[in-house]
Amino acid sequence: MNDMWDWLGTRAAQREAAGLRRRLRTREAGAGPVDLAGNDYLGLCAHPEVRAAAAEAVRIWGAGSTGSRLVTGTTSEHTEFERELADFLGAEAALVFSSGYLANVGLVTALAGPEDLLVSDALNHASVIDAVRLSGARRAVVGHCSPRDVERALAGAEVPYRRAFVLTESVFSVDGDVAPLAELADVCRRYGAALLVDEAHGVGVHGQGGRGGAHAAGLAGAQDVVLTVTLSKSLGTQGGAVVGPREVIDHLIDAARPFIFDTALAPSCAAAARAALRILRREPELAERVGRNAARLHRIAVDAGLPASAPSGAVTSVILGDPDRTVAAAERCLAGGVRVGCFRPPSVPDGRSRLRLTARADLTEADFARVSEVLRAIPKPPNGPDQS
Ligand code: PMP
Repeated sequence: MNDMWDWLGTRAAQREAAGLRRRLRTREAGAGPVDLAGNDYLGLCAHPEVRAAAAEAVRIWGAGSTGSRLVTGTTSEHTEFERELADFLGAEAALVFSSGYLANVGLVTALAGPEDLLVSDALNHASVIDAVRLSGARRAVVGHCSPRDVERALAGAEVPYRRAFVLTESVFSVDGDVAPLAELADVCRRYGAALLVDEAHGVGVHGQGGRGGAHAAGLAGAQDVVLTVTLSKSLGTQGGAVVGPREVIDHLIDAARPFIFDTALAPSCAAAARAALRILRREPELAERVGRNAARLHRIAVDAGLPASAPSGAVTSVILGDPDRTVAAAERCLAGGVRVGCFRPPSVPDGRSRLRLTARADLTEADFARVSEVLRAIPKPPNGPDQS
């Protein structure tokens, strides 16, 4: 059966021809290019205090967590971080998962089943989409950032539902735009629905001192709002968490399969996240600096003649349209010393391939000068991005 996997070769050739083949690129240790592709918004991944906290936790606890949260995997690093994160976000409780992806899957599948309705923003992250699918609940995918569409879905459900949940990101991962959380919460309240907000790109960047979009919208501590958070972006490490009412958190401990059956997050990651949160509390200006730097990157891209979207968070998108042109532009940036994000279908719609410039709090004048130089060297799209 030597031809068993031929179909995979055919698929790969089709993706290659469409400019959609994905390749792993190994990052070298040490000082590399200016990084506008990662999610280390606050520059805390390599911060001395965060490194020291992780190293000390490895010394105390070893390299792993040794078991699931319910068996041997819960250490004081996990429980202290949960307490501190809930306190930071103004919520009753928090629960750490081993990634943000699993936090979304765990939350949604533990709350919703086939009798329930999930109303999900069209541009929600893959982890939210997968969570919705796995739950087996009825789903309505609604227009991006549209409280009116959400209301229509809640009001117009043909079959009565047991409970409804509305799912959105607070700051969307691809375009960096911000959800109208206060309006969404209003609609939810009129229909008795709970609002589930993925704060992966909100915490550390948005709201007072980086407390995220829900906090900024006056929803901190609300009994009908539940947040998911990742530790892998602003907090510079790995892991995820659900943050919200105590009853929800207690239910997840009993019912969330990725919590129960997954080996717990390594204690060193929880310790690193605690250190990162401590720094963010002490230096709340870090969050504002990301916004200022994003505005500056946007100006640099526009001055370079590129079609750049104005950032509302850390992200500026430069939509070049064609995937091959976008990959070539990203390669050119890297050769010039700047690593930028490169997004092609299926991560973005056809004809909307783009470079993504992610601002960080710790960009220097030399970094900005380099970015300006490489962006000026990118060939401009002939008629702006394809509008397919
Ligand atoms: N939600 C959103 C909006 C994200 O962008 C990501 C990460 N790309 C996740 C969830 C998943 O988080 P993690 O990387 O911690 O699994």
